[in-house]
Amino acid sequence: MRYDVVVVGGGPSGATAAMDLAREGKSVAMLDRDGRIKPCGGAIPPRLIADFDIPEAQIVAKISTARMISPTARHVDIPIENGFVGMVDREHFDEFLRKRAVVAGAERFSGTFMGLHRDEDGKPVIVYKDKQTQERRTLSARLVIGADGARSNVARAEVPGGDTIPYVIAYHEIVEAPDGIGDAYDPNRCDVIYDGTISPDFYGWIFPHGKQASIGMGTGINGVDLKDATKSLRDAAGLSDCKTVRREGAPIPLEPLKRWDNGRDVVLAGDAAGVVAPSSGEGIYYAMVGGRVAAEAASACLASGNASDLKLARKRFMKEHKTVFKVLRMMQDAYYKSDDRRERFVSLCHDVDVQRLTFEAYMNKKLVKARPMAHLRIMAKNIGHLTRLIPASST
Ligand SMILES: Cc1cc2nc3c(=O)[nH]c(=O)nc-3n(C[C@H](O)[C@H](O)[C@H](O)COP(=O)(O)OP(=O)(O)OC[C@H]3O[C@@H](n4cnc5c(N)ncnc54)[C@H](O)[C@@H]3O)c2cc1C
Repeated sequence: MRYDVVVVGGGPSGATAAMDLAREGKSVAMLDRDGRIKPCGGAIPPRLIADFDIPEAQIVAKISTARMISPTARHVDIPIENGFVGMVDREHFDEFLRKRAVVAGAERFSGTFMGLHRDEDGKPVIVYKDKQTQERRTLSARLVIGADGARSNVARAEVPGGDTIPYVIAYHEIVEAPDGIGDAYDPNRCDVIYDGTISPDFYGWIFPHGKQASIGMGTGINGVDLKDATKSLRDAAGLSDCKTVRREGAPIPLEPLKRWDNGRDVVLAGDAAGVVAPSSGEGIYYAMVGGRVAAEAASACLASGNASDLKLARKRFMKEHKTVFKVLRMMQDAYYKSDDRRERFVSLCHDVDVQRLTFEAYMNKKLVKARPMAHLRIMAKNIGHLTRLIPASST
């Protein structure tokens, strides 16, 4: 049998693409190696919950406050107005998404992608190692969606630049959360730690997950001791004695690829295409949008027979999210480079208009216009901090 589309990877991007295509009546195979829980903080915005119909049962915690902590341990608590940040456990969330794709009509295969070649008709054939039998098997397709995550083998094999995406390595420990609310840990609050001794180029976090919590950090700099940094975070939050459930790490891509398709029969989605928001490292929402636009592009290409329709995936994604990515990239470049800048960043977060604009962009994925005077004031503050005309701790 030749499937309309074989989706390699059954994470948020792949499972979304498979579900959307199957709902349209396309024949879809979804291949995932299964069995490994994706290391992830699990924070998702309300826009994701709404756009992708995530049921209440998947939300293990609802976060009402974000605490930004500076290198000198000053902090600002940002109340999350008009909603909450949801927390999911990837062990259950990914499986829910995969099962939903199957209910929609996708066929699920468990195994590891080994390579891709073309048959005598020039159509793609996926070679994989079956998880149960360990035998090599094949899946034939008209099109392939590569949604196999960071360091994607599909991207590496098929798409120019797919082997050169820059990454930070993120590491976290899942622990059993303490009961109740303490001074340093609150199950309804996300802590984001900007401190060069924790991460010289990214940040550390403490994300509550109901009965568990994720504590971790990311860095693109070799030689940083990720476990040591995470130990410091645990000590500071009073979580040192909590039972450790898992220790794990994975790369987070830093830059979307210039091309997401091979001009023939493969299109990428999610981390495989390098699509994670700068500054925040937020990837789940963008992976699901990536899966959706990859499905739309594949569908258009199947209908027209025109391979250039695969370009629609990147085009549609960028039309909606390019500006936010640009602003977040500028923020990361400006404020994540020294402790002085990090101190200034946390100072900026005291500004109520900065809080509103940032959280509106995160929660609803829209850049909203504030009052013109607020924009001017924020710009002046930014300039004041970046030129060091105002003291680092000035709010
Ligand atoms: C430590 C850490 C914390 C993070 N925290 C957050 C957060 O709080 N919020 C947020 O929004 N984002 C977070 N991210 C980013 C987020 O996890 C990713 O951006 C998101 O998972 C990308 O989804 P995806 O479907 O593209 O890829 P993945 O989730 O990586 O899914 C890829 C799938 O492909 C499968 N696969 C891979 N290789 C093969 C193969 N060879 N054969 C078969 N199957 C294969 C895997 O089994 C997996 O199921 C975090 C990342 C890390 C590393």
